[in-house]
Amino acid sequence: MNHVTRILVIEDEPGIALALYKALREAAYHVDTAKTGTSGLRKAAAKKFDIILLDLGLPDMSGLTICRQLRDEGLKAPIIILTAESSVRTKVSLFDAGANDYVTKPFSVEELQARIRACLRQVPKEPLQPRLVVGELTLNSANRTVERGGLAIPLRRKEFSILEYMMQHAGTAVTRASLLQYAWDSNEEGWTNTIDVHIKHLRDKVDRPFAINLIKTVHGVGYKLDVSNTVAKIP
Ligand code: CA
Repeated sequence: MNHVTRILVIEDEPGIALALYKALREAAYHVDTAKTGTSGLRKAAAKKFDIILLDLGLPDMSGLTICRQLRDEGLKAPIIILTAESSVRTKVSLFDAGANDYVTKPFSVEELQARIRACLRQVPKEPLQPRLVVGELTLNSANRTVERGGLAIPLRRKEFSILEYMMQHAGTAVTRASLLQYAWDSNEEGWTNTIDVHIKHLRDKVDRPFAINLIKTVHGVGYKLDVSNTVAKIP
């Protein structure tokens, strides 16, 4: 495995945090630590971690709340809870909150490491070529290419992002504001009417050379990628 496994440890007890940090570093993991729930959530949002070790009793919020919030935000990485409680009720609520596993304090680092390895084995490998397919349109986010009916369609950066967003929401109307939010960086200025200009360019490339128009205007809302006879799927 040439990929470095990144672990986020959210734990307020300095002794435990340090012991974990040392042991996991020794096991060749990349380790980040957070002492509070707030900083843990911030770190989890800022960087991609392969696994999260989460203390149940943190000074500012409960580990359960953090676990639920991470899952609500779409985090897929396994979460192992470090808990001092071992009641069945606690364990049930951990799994209900989206945790993958738990260890009861005091725990042995060897056991925790075995659980980390077990969790990591269960994570499905991400496809190397993340593709979106909608009808005869194929968009490849890895190498940023688009094809329609096997024909390569070169797109500019914003056009690509707009199409990507529309393909992710194929069949439903998307607003100009949501396209702007998706395709423009937060420090970039963009106006909803610039979306219309980019849509025009997109239509010239994606629709004009073909018999059927896929990009539809939804009056009063925005735009829609028409999928009347197709199903969006991620192969
Ligand atoms: Ca604690």
